[in-house]
Order: sequence, then C-alpha cells, then structure tokens
Amino acid sequence: MGHSLKPGVVTGDDYKTLLTAAKEGGYALPAVNAVGTNSVNAVLEAAAKNRSDVIVQFSNSGGQFFAGKSLEDGFEAKVLGSVSAARHIHLLAEKYGICVVIHTDHANKALIPWVEALVGYSEEHYEKTGSPLFSSHMLDLSAEEIDFNLSESERLLKRMAPIGMSLEIELGVTGGEEDGVGSDDDIGADNPKLYTQPEDCLRAYQLLSPIGHFSLAASFGNVHGVYKPGNVKLRPEILKNSQDLVKETCGTGDKPLDLVFHGGSGSDKAKIAEALSYGVFKMNIDTDTQFAVSKAVGAYVEENSKAFKYQIDPDDGTPYKKKYDPRAWMRAGEQSMVERLDEAFQDLGSVGKTLAS
Ligand SMILES: [Zn+2]
Repeated sequence: MGHSLKPGVVTGDDYKTLLTAAKEGGYALPAVNAVGTNSVNAVLEAAAKNRSDVIVQFSNSGGQFFAGKSLEDGFEAKVLGSVSAARHIHLLAEKYGICVVIHTDHANKALIPWVEALVGYSEEHYEKTGSPLFSSHMLDLSAEEIDFNLSESERLLKRMAPIGMSLEIELGVTGGEEDGVGSDDDIGADNPKLYTQPEDCLRAYQLLSPIGHFSLAASFGNVHGVYKPGNVKLRPEILKNSQDLVKETCGTGDKPLDLVFHGGSGSDKAKIAEALSYGVFKMNIDTDTQFAVSKAVGAYVEENSKAFKYQIDPDDGTPYKKKYDPRAWMRAGEQSMVERLDEAFQDLGSVGKTLAS
C-alpha cells in the first residue's frame, strides 16, 4: 500500500510497517519454526518464490539443535544456537529479495533467562549497527498468574523497546505441547483456559502499548499439533470481542491489537480466514512443515532403499554415492517444506504482497 522496504531483516518501525500492511491488506505472514540452515533456507526460498515477506522463528530447543546437541551446557547452546541462526539470516536474507522478521517462540518462566541473554546480543548488535539482532521475542507466561505474566512482560518490553524490539505475549493457554512448553493435558473442547478473556487483553493493551510494540497470542481454542477432529473447538469471535473492547475503552481505531495465531496446523481454512479478518497478522506453522520434510525424506529412502544399505550394489556393482549423499535427501525434504509453505502463503493471502523493493 505505497510502502516499500529494503529486502533483508526487518526490525523496529519497519516491522510495524510490515504488520500494519498485513492487517490493512487482510493477510497474514507465516511464522515458520526452523531448526537448522536447511529449514531456514527452505523458508527463505518459499518466501522468495511466493513474493511474500516471512517470519522465521526458533524455539529454545530449535536454537539448541542449531548449536549442536552434544554441547554440554544446554542453556548456553540454546542461546548461541539462536544467535547463530539469527546471524545466518542477517547474512543471507537480502539475497532472497524479501523482508524477513527474526523471532523466538514460546519462552515460559524457566526460559526467561534465555530471552534475556538474547536481548543482550541484540543490545550489542544495536550499538554496532543501530538495529537489534532479533526483531522480536515471545514471552509465554500464560501458565502463571496474569499479574506475573503482565509485570514480567512490562519489565522485558521496557528493556527491548529502546532498541527497536517487539514482544509477543500469550494470554489464555494454547493447548498442547510444543518443544517442552505446554502440555497435552489441557486439550478438550470447552476447557475455559483455552479461551482468552477480552478483559485480560484490555489490561495488556493499557499496560504495554505506552511502553513499546507488543503482539498478542490470544487463545480461542487453538492447540499445538494436529489432533483428531472434535478435540478442539475454535472460537475466533473471541478475537473480535477483544478488539472491540479495547477499541471502545481506549478510543483507538479498528483492530488495535496485533494478534498472533498459534496452533494453526490442521485448522479449518474458513476459521483461519475468520481469524485474519479480526486482526491476526502472524500465523505460526511448525507441525505441518515438520511432517512435510519427513514425508519427503521417507519417500526418498523408500525409493532408494538399497542406497541406504550399500555404498555399492552387492549384485550389480552400481555405485550409490549420488543417492546417499545427504544433500540429495535433505534437498528432497527442503523442497517438500517449500511446497507446504506455498499452501501456507496461499491460505494467509500473502502471495505477491512483499513490501521489499
Ligand atoms: Zn505456539
């Protein structure tokens, strides 16, 4: 809508430009979990192919995996792996010709030090370059009392806002477990914990919006992972009620809250479209892209099963080097991830909408 940004990593006001364009344009950006350069590159490839901007995010264990599973100090690995991932994206994003947001996913109470350590790296990056290393972090204290959730969010945002960083918070519980955060026990239609109270969204808005930019993962029955139909009842109208309450109480324009949709894998497309119409600018995707990678690698192994047992065919002497070269099957996984992301960009309406030029 008249805005254009430089391709590459986007932070601060440029990030706000990106998400405002999405909300005004009625589309959202996929936020894809990555665990290594393969998945990061597949996300960038898919975004470039679809001419869409994109969000790449890392869970704490995704960061750890990036650093290497053998490192003894798991905490340090979570920090350094996430930093390494962010630096990889900073080096390459511009070459893909689209705008990229770098974000970290769920951090519960025990993971606050992980986020704080990453903010330290962004402060350092800001001193050198004028922008942070990460665009935003998520703090998920939805399992704690709301007073603690909000006061910790306030404390962190006060540190992050001056260097152009944004904070994502969670109110109400996204059901299910993902990378060690959350649990499957709370899944079940009509569990009230799975539905955010609009009054809580209002409290968050009144407290946090004067400090800096925040986004909100509001729960409307969404669940991480893919479960049997009927276990989950999505009620996106909760998002609308929250937007309306903030608008009426604070006298803002329409859809003042910047909303995030967690647990979107396996969701009904009509419910996704409805959620977007209520101001969702970011939808997380992890489970479906994990499956896309594994499905393609599985098919490749099945088709080339001898190459995974023998370097040379025991009967006819055929060399299998080209087949078992990890780049062959890893690339099959990347391509399948790109294909699944084609579908995500379509569902979210962001195809061709990049602001990069
Ligand atoms: Zn989530």
